[in-house]
Amino acid sequence: MRFGNDILRQADALAAYTEDPPRLTRTYLTSQHRQAGNFLLGLMREAGMEASYDALGNVVGRFRAEDPLAPVVMSGSHMDSVRDAGRYDGLFGILTGIACVRDLSARGKRLPYTYEVVAFGDEEGVRFGVTLSGSKAMGGSFDPSWLDAKDADGTTLRDALTAFGGDPDGWRALDRRGGRVVAYVESHIEQGPVLLNEGLPVGIVTAIAGGSRMRVAVTGLAGHAGTVPMGARRDALAAAAEMALAVERIASQPGKGGAALVGTVGVMKVRPGAINVIPQDVDFTVDVRSADDTARHAAVTEIRAAFDAIAARRHVKVVADVFYELDAAPCDPALQNALAASIGRQRVPVRRLPSGAGHDAMVFPPVCPIAMLFVRCGAGGISHHPSETMTAEDAEIATAVLLDFLEHYVPPKR
Ligand SMILES: [Zn+2]
Repeated sequence: MRFGNDILRQADALAAYTEDPPRLTRTYLTSQHRQAGNFLLGLMREAGMEASYDALGNVVGRFRAEDPLAPVVMSGSHMDSVRDAGRYDGLFGILTGIACVRDLSARGKRLPYTYEVVAFGDEEGVRFGVTLSGSKAMGGSFDPSWLDAKDADGTTLRDALTAFGGDPDGWRALDRRGGRVVAYVESHIEQGPVLLNEGLPVGIVTAIAGGSRMRVAVTGLAGHAGTVPMGARRDALAAAAEMALAVERIASQPGKGGAALVGTVGVMKVRPGAINVIPQDVDFTVDVRSADDTARHAAVTEIRAAFDAIAARRHVKVVADVFYELDAAPCDPALQNALAASIGRQRVPVRRLPSGAGHDAMVFPPVCPIAMLFVRCGAGGISHHPSETMTAEDAEIATAVLLDFLEHYVPPKR
């Protein structure tokens, strides 16, 4: 096997850089981020790349074309993790790119473009609550107010970045818009069961779902659980429960044009929160995603209307605040077709599917066309969890596909 065993071994080695062993948790600008970054720097240099940290603690490896003004093709993914994570989420996309370069170097081959592999320091946003900050800097959507975000200990991102050896003002220079990058191709574990259920090792992403997130506050009236008759209650939790079911119902209908939607209420906080008191206040969250922005916006509008109707009927107050919106990112048809040709040359059937999860790729459309290759996720498709698995055979096929893509890719004339 040319790549698969090595990649899985490297992912195992990286899993040791964790903040809470034996679980894998690696957040932005920690000593474990440094250890993982140094490990990847070493791999990149061994493979024949120039590699260094950038101002935000991303690790950037460059496999240079002979022409210093040649266009750039970029692959990347993230080296941070969620809490108690799996070991392939993010890391696979970095390791597979490095494996391709190692193979090209070993054969003395150059590409007609500079190939960059980027290990982003912060995609998941666990420590500072800011997601995709590394890739957003390159995509030109970094918001400097994020530098004031604080972790659980009150340390600002700015101070943590300075302590890490980064440059809090350096994000401006990372913007790749209008530069030489002509394509961004990210490989990633699917984090779902579609390829597993169809017996396929890899798939091509058609679009990365956009998302809307809401904070919802329901205010009712507290009262004694024994003395207030049922008909006289304004129970905030019973209302919130009905609202959660409304989210489920609305997200279960296909959007206009049949676009798939998903909707989740993931957090619910009840006050006062006593067994013998009617709930007065409930705060909950809503997460709605779709690869179709129109369908998502329509669902959010319908959800808000349902909340208002439930609140009116139950005589409670509801305030729903959409605090986060990110548009879907369509993958480039020509790059999808190029990946399909590479998959075909591995004699694997071509399957296209949308990505319900967000990825670093989704903030690159202002820079260049994007594409994503998904790799089968074992164990029922579970991810963001220690039982996330990938086989060496699938890592092998996915890397062969990426390498074939890189060797066939012809940068556009400029
Ligand atoms: Zn990921």
